[in-house]
Amino acid sequence: MGKVLSWIVIGVLGYLAWRLTLVLQRKALAARTGHAPEAPAGPGARRSAPETGPRELMRACDVCGTYVPDSDALRARGRFYCCAAHRDQAA
Ligand SMILES: [Zn+2]
Repeated sequence: MGKVLSWIVIGVLGYLAWRLTLVLQRKALAARTGHAPEAPAGPGARRSAPETGPRELMRACDVCGTYVPDSDALRARGRFYCCAAHRDQAA
């Protein structure tokens, strides 16, 4: 009976040593790469939406209704246009 118990103890110690090795390996990898070993917990810690670059406001052309990025839209008298032709057409 004592022999069985000693094998169980050896098994548990081996398992704990294996777990400890995994944790140490993960910590060493995180230190090398600069990444956190585990994802931060809690809501809002990670964005659910995929990264598609910075979002830009879209403006509808007042003449044809085409949506153009805010940086490309031509602004005149508080309205937005897709091109100079439509801006001049509306004037
Ligand atoms: Zn237009």
